[in-house]
Amino acid sequence: MATTVLHGCDLVDGTGAEPRHGVDIVVREGTIREIVPTRPAETYGTVDEILEAAGELAIPGLINNHTHGTAYGPLFPSGHEALPPEQVRANLDRHLLEGTTTVLCVDGFVTAEALARTNDDHPLTVKLASCNTPACLEAATIADGGGLTDETRAFTARQAVEAGAVALGEIGAGHTLGGGGASYMYIPAEVARRTTVTITPRQADALKVAVLGRHISASSFDKDAVEEALEAAGLAGKLSVAEIREIVSGIVLPAFDIALQGLTEAAEYARRADVPVLVHNAAASMTQVAAIAKTEVPLIAGHSNHTSFELREALEHAEQLKELGATVDVSTLDTFGAQRLTSGPDLLYAMFESGLADTISTDYAGGHHDPILLAIDHAAKAGVVRLPAAIAMATAHVADAIPGVAPGRGRVLPGAVADLVLTDPAELARVRTVIIGGEIVVRDGARA
Ligand SMILES: [Zn+2]
Repeated sequence: MATTVLHGCDLVDGTGAEPRHGVDIVVREGTIREIVPTRPAETYGTVDEILEAAGELAIPGLINNHTHGTAYGPLFPSGHEALPPEQVRANLDRHLLEGTTTVLCVDGFVTAEALARTNDDHPLTVKLASCNTPACLEAATIADGGGLTDETRAFTARQAVEAGAVALGEIGAGHTLGGGGASYMYIPAEVARRTTVTITPRQADALKVAVLGRHISASSFDKDAVEEALEAAGLAGKLSVAEIREIVSGIVLPAFDIALQGLTEAAEYARRADVPVLVHNAAASMTQVAAIAKTEVPLIAGHSNHTSFELREALEHAEQLKELGATVDVSTLDTFGAQRLTSGPDLLYAMFESGLADTISTDYAGGHHDPILLAIDHAAKAGVVRLPAAIAMATAHVADAIPGVAPGRGRVLPGAVADLVLTDPAELARVRTVIIGGEIVVRDGARA
């Protein structure tokens, strides 16, 4: 098999160590063999390819622990109708071109057979998580379930773990727990159906918070806030306070309690199956998430910078989770780009600056996620995190937190699997080369 030399690059190796300058990385038979101070290319004799990489930064291929729409099968833990296969492949292309070499698909109802087909169709490594426990299945069925088939329903979490699922997750979701999924999907769709008015995710979110509060409770209903939110969404005179209350409550509440129960149930399943549980961590689920953190099960607290949190609340909650041994994940969401759901980087930066963030993922953000390297670039330039530490959060820390997700990957060390990225140190999101298992799969920023 091929020998490739990444010649003369700088290296941030994923361990958190300081950058090394001017190294050659020798890859043979899919494995990183040597990392040595750079020497003239001709001294390598017969190799298959010398990749000239002077002025470029080598990092481990990113391991993204929280993605949706990255495998064939029902979308989201609400079992939504599957995306068309070409959209799944386009999503995988996008992750790949962003420097990601492994994704954990946390849609939760994907079967092993569908995952195998996904992996056959794309070079990126897609790993499976399952949310198919009785309560989570019931919550999905109530909230949506439009993409669930007899086959996906029958493929339980226990079977999924036996077939290679590396975690249970995503347990709870914006679609079953009244989070982003309600705001960018279900509420705008129902409002449009009744009024023909198209509202934005943020307008839907404001309506939801006015009706049910950030922590999702019928008792949080605030009539004045609802009137204001209707006005702001251009719905005054089109929907009454009572009508929007009924719409929002009807979408969010039926699945909510059973989805909360699903968190505790899935944690117990994960403990028995000896895999981590990856949960939807948001204002609505924080009490249950904290309770899980007190048990023995390895816990990944997904997107702990969720937009439903207030800043202080998020930091205190994350601190508590971390003290209890949980992995605190932050997601890029649409923080820097679309900003349809998030309103800027304050909370993400605060999670970095406080040292609370352990891992970085993208989540879905209604299909508008920001690249991990873009978020790291902004955060490093803002001085809230050091580059080697941030790269470790997207590589080695993920591999360590979820042992099955990317064994032998996540660090650029001799003997590791050769999943590597070459990018522009001045603009990290400008990924030039991606190598998976020693194969060059992205050249000059395009699929090879
Ligand atoms: Zn979520």
